[in-house]
Amino acid sequence: MTFAIHGLNVSRGVAIGRAVLVASSRVDVAHYFVKPDEVEAEINRLRAGRNAVIDEIHRLQESITHMGPKEAPHELGALLDVHLMLLQDQELVGGVKHWITERLYNAEWALTTQLEVIARQFDEMEDEYLRERKADLEQIVERVLRAMKGSGSPIVVHPQRVNRKPSQQDLLLDDTVDVPLILIAHDLSPADMLQFKQSVFAGFITDVGGKTSHTAIVARSMDIPAVVGARLASQLVRQDDWVIIDGDAGVVIVDPSSIILAEYGFKQRQRELERGRLQRLLHTPAVTMDGEKVELLANIEMPEDAPVALKAGAVGVGLFRSEFLFMGRQGRLPGEEEQYQAYKRAVEGMQGLPVTIRTVDVGADKPLDDSLRDDAHLNPALGLRAIRWSLADPAMFLTQLRAILRAAAHGKVHLLVPMLAHASEIRQTLAHLDHARAMLDNRGVSYGPVKLGAMIEIPAAALSLRLFLKYFDFLSIGTNDLIQYTLAIDRADESVAHLYDPLHPAVLRLVADTIAEGRAQGKDVAVCGEMAGDVTLTRLLLGLGLRSFSMHPAQILAVKQEILRADAGKLAPWAQRVMQAEDPAREMAAP
Ligand code: PEP
Ligand code: MG
Repeated sequence: MTFAIHGLNVSRGVAIGRAVLVASSRVDVAHYFVKPDEVEAEINRLRAGRNAVIDEIHRLQESITHMGPKEAPHELGALLDVHLMLLQDQELVGGVKHWITERLYNAEWALTTQLEVIARQFDEMEDEYLRERKADLEQIVERVLRAMKGSGSPIVVHPQRVNRKPSQQDLLLDDTVDVPLILIAHDLSPADMLQFKQSVFAGFITDVGGKTSHTAIVARSMDIPAVVGARLASQLVRQDDWVIIDGDAGVVIVDPSSIILAEYGFKQRQRELERGRLQRLLHTPAVTMDGEKVELLANIEMPEDAPVALKAGAVGVGLFRSEFLFMGRQGRLPGEEEQYQAYKRAVEGMQGLPVTIRTVDVGADKPLDDSLRDDAHLNPALGLRAIRWSLADPAMFLTQLRAILRAAAHGKVHLLVPMLAHASEIRQTLAHLDHARAMLDNRGVSYGPVKLGAMIEIPAAALSLRLFLKYFDFLSIGTNDLIQYTLAIDRADESVAHLYDPLHPAVLRLVADTIAEGRAQGKDVAVCGEMAGDVTLTRLLLGLGLRSFSMHPAQILAVKQEILRADAGKLAPWAQRVMQAEDPAREMAAP
C-alpha cells in the first residue's frame, strides 16, 4: 500500500530505490558490493567470524563449569545457551546469506541488514521475554562484527549500482536493471555521514534532524536527495521496500504505485536536464547585469573535496570545516603532521586559489565521536564548542594552528575562527597564533602568511562589529548558527524547525549590518552559512550588499544563474524594503 511520510526538504532532487534500514550506531559498518565471484569468499569470512564467536562462547561455557554459583550464576550459563542458539538460528544465517548472494552486500552490511529485519520482528512480539531477546541478538551481532574486523575484508568499493535479476518495479524505472539504495536511519551523526560519503547510497532519510543540522549539510554537500525529520520513517518503512525521496518537497513515498513511479522517473530526468543546462555557465564569470563582480566560493569537509570545488567553478574555498578531520576517531585527535598534510592537500587541490581553513568546530551536533555525544550537558549548543573548546585545550589548538601555518607555505590560506563573542577570546586566539609561529621559528620550520577572519555567528558578535573589524582582515557570517542563536531555535531539532527562519527581521538586520559595516571599513565579508547556497535568497543577499558567497559546490551554478540575471543596483532599495517589512517573506513574494 502506498503511503507518504512528510519531513524537511534538506537536499534537492529525486531518488528512487530500495530501503536499507540501518541503526545509527551501525552506520559506520562498511557498505559496499562484492563481485559475484567474491560471494563465496564473503560467506566464508562471515562464517569465520561466526565460528570465532561460537568458539569463544564454548570456551566460556567450559570455564564456568569449574566455577561456583557466586562467580558464575546460573543465569550466565542460560544466557550463553541463548547466544549460541541465536548464532545458529536459521533466520539469521539464511537471511545474511540471502543479502550476500542475492544483493551482493558485503558481509558486515548483510549481517546488520538481517539484524534490522529480525529486530523488527522481536519488537512486534507480544511476549516480553522474547521481546527482550533483541538485545541478545544485537550483542552477538556486534561480537561477530568485531570478530570479522580482524579477518581482513577486501575493501573494494564497487560502483553504486549493481546488476541483478529485475523485478517488475525495476523494469518500470529504467531500461537497465540497476537499483539504487536508500538509507533510512533514526539519526545519522556527522561522523556517520563521513562514512556515508564513500558509500553506495543514492539518498537518505532520517527520523530526526533540522534543516541546517550537520547531517543535512553533509547531504547537500554530497548533492544527493535527502529528507530529515521524517518522524517514524525508520519504523514505518520495512527493509527492502521501494521508496521515493522527493527532496524538493521533503516527502518520502513508500511502496509507490506504477503511476507515481513513472511521474517521479520523469521528474528525475527533468532535473538531470536542468543540471546539464547549468553546466553551460561553468566558465561564465559571476557578474550581475549591472557589472557587479561576485565571488562564489565552496564549503568543503575534506581535502578530497577541493577538486570537486574547482570542477564546480568555485574561485576558492570559503569554508573548510576542519572538524571533519577530527571526527569518528574514538577521540584520538590528528597530530600536526597529519593535519598539515590534509590542509596542504586542500591548498594544492585548489591550484593557487585561496583556501579558508576554519579552526576546529566540534561540540553541539558535531560530537567528536558518537560514543562521546554530549548528552551530559543540558544545552551543548550553548556549551563548550568551537573556539571555546580550542581555548580550553591549548596544546590541541596550537597543534592545529601550526599545521595551518605550515600549509600556508604552499598557497593562499585564510584562517577563520568560529564562535567568537568576547574580546578576551579574540586576544587569546591571537596570542596562541603568535605562540604557534614562535614554536615553528624555534624548530626552524617554514610557514606562510595567513589572512585572519572571524565567523560572525553569535548575535553578540554581530552587535559588536567594531571589535571584530579592529582585529580581523575579513568576516564570514555563519547564518546557520546566527539564526539558531538569534531565534533560540535548536538547528538540529525538527520539532522547532518551522520556527527556524532566515527571513526573520532580526536575522536580516544582523546580516545586513555586518555586510554594511564590513564594507564601509574596506573589509571582505562573506556568508558561509546555508543561506548563501539558497537560490531563493540570492537576490536579497545581493541587495543587502553581499559580494562573497560560500556554499556547497553543487549549489554554485544555480546561484550563479541568479546572479547573472540580477541587477544589483535595483535590488538594493527592494532589499531594504524587505528587511523593514513586518513579514519579509511576504514582501519578497510581492510582485
Ligand atoms: C554556520 O554556522 O553558518 C556555519 C557555516 O558553521 P557550521 O554550520 O559548521 O556551524
Ligand atoms: Mg556555525
